[in-house]
Amino acid sequence: MSDQPEITNREIITYVDDIRPIIEAAADALWDFAEVRYEEVRSAAYLKEILEEGGYTITHDTVAGIPTAFVAEIGEGGPVIGILAEYDALPGLGNAPVPRKEPRADGVTSGHGCGHNLIGSAAVGAALAVGRAVQAGKLSGTVRLYGTPAEEGGQGKVYMARDGVFDDAEIILHWHPADRAGVMNERTAANANLDVAFFGVTAHAGGQPWQGRSALHAVELFCHGVNLMREQMEPTGRVQYVIRAGGEETNIIPDYASVQIAYRDADLERVNRHIEWIKQIAEGAALATQTRAQVTFLGAIHDLMPNGPLAERMQAVVEQVGAPLFDEAEQAFARQVQAEMDLPDAGLEMAVRPLVQERAEGYSTDVGDVSKIAPTMGLNMPTVPAGVSMHTWGATACHGVSIGRKGAVQAAKGLALMAAELLTEAELRAAAKADFDARMGGKAYVSPIPPEIEAPPMMKVEKIED
Ligand SMILES: [Zn+2]
Repeated sequence: MSDQPEITNREIITYVDDIRPIIEAAADALWDFAEVRYEEVRSAAYLKEILEEGGYTITHDTVAGIPTAFVAEIGEGGPVIGILAEYDALPGLGNAPVPRKEPRADGVTSGHGCGHNLIGSAAVGAALAVGRAVQAGKLSGTVRLYGTPAEEGGQGKVYMARDGVFDDAEIILHWHPADRAGVMNERTAANANLDVAFFGVTAHAGGQPWQGRSALHAVELFCHGVNLMREQMEPTGRVQYVIRAGGEETNIIPDYASVQIAYRDADLERVNRHIEWIKQIAEGAALATQTRAQVTFLGAIHDLMPNGPLAERMQAVVEQVGAPLFDEAEQAFARQVQAEMDLPDAGLEMAVRPLVQERAEGYSTDVGDVSKIAPTMGLNMPTVPAGVSMHTWGATACHGVSIGRKGAVQAAKGLALMAAELLTEAELRAAAKADFDARMGGKAYVSPIPPEIEAPPMMKVEKIED
């Protein structure tokens, strides 16, 4: 089999330019749908339809029991290059496509404050472009598009990973909207989430308090225990909790109280060690207050593992593609958003950032699990003004206008170029694999989901962390 590229980078870019209207229409459609985790029915259907129109076969219409997860494929044989598509929105972040905080006219309160409408449309656009080259016989191998729902607090990819759909992918690519163009050469935190509920006995707080057993006291003791644990945590550890139920009235001893708690650290081993400790704190709090503790697993994810050769090549690709060229109207929109958010009026960044060396980030992503199964690398494109963070109304607004669409098209170019180079260059794939193997140190991927958990709890537990 020839290992020589039979297609030029110019041709790949031209394919993406041809597909631009499809990418832009998808970005807008998904932005309108604004479907939150595990409810992305219309978004998934939309993307599947345009993939099928582009010659893709839907090989999995449901993955891991999740109806909004899917896998689509084009071509045959190796190598298998995967591209991740996300499409879930965030609750409460709906905003009109205007440079100020303003509810949507149609009353939809959820919104694409993390730009997953752009992730999905650009990933599919890249897959369609490379798919055209495969269909034209200019590239050989398989391109696989993973439809991955519920990135936001739902850990969709972790369930898909446990189901094995990433196992035979040689390399996996992804991207994320940002305020800059560059390579996602970073480590993110591993984390685990628990719901800790306490059950006591209700009683009249004034009349017969001795007959009651306060579940709220258990929560207070639990939180105190967690805060004492903090002193013994390594500097990489983070723990946050919110009290979700703490009683109703002061004259009723609460028989039910609950806390949701998240523990993050540099890797899952450290997370799990502290999760065990947290469970013991819950048992201790229950014992001390004569209540009963019930700990429910809500999800866990691995840290994101970078890859040296892929990061370097991705940098070259992003530099070749460049950041989007934003026009004056878009810069004016951006500056107005910055003014509304009390940020410096720097506008939109149009330069590609130099490659950074594997910075450690405090946030988590379910791409982490994918990165422990196959060499994985991502890119960033600007879709928000400089300094505007994701998960804000400003991000939602920008992701529904031409600023976001331009970022998506540029991301599609980067992903398509990178995928084409990976399909043709066996040496690059081998270098990525060697780097991956060295980092894994002979260990295989272990799912962070306890075996007894069959489906994502988020699919069943209504708005547990809304
Ligand atoms: Zn995101």
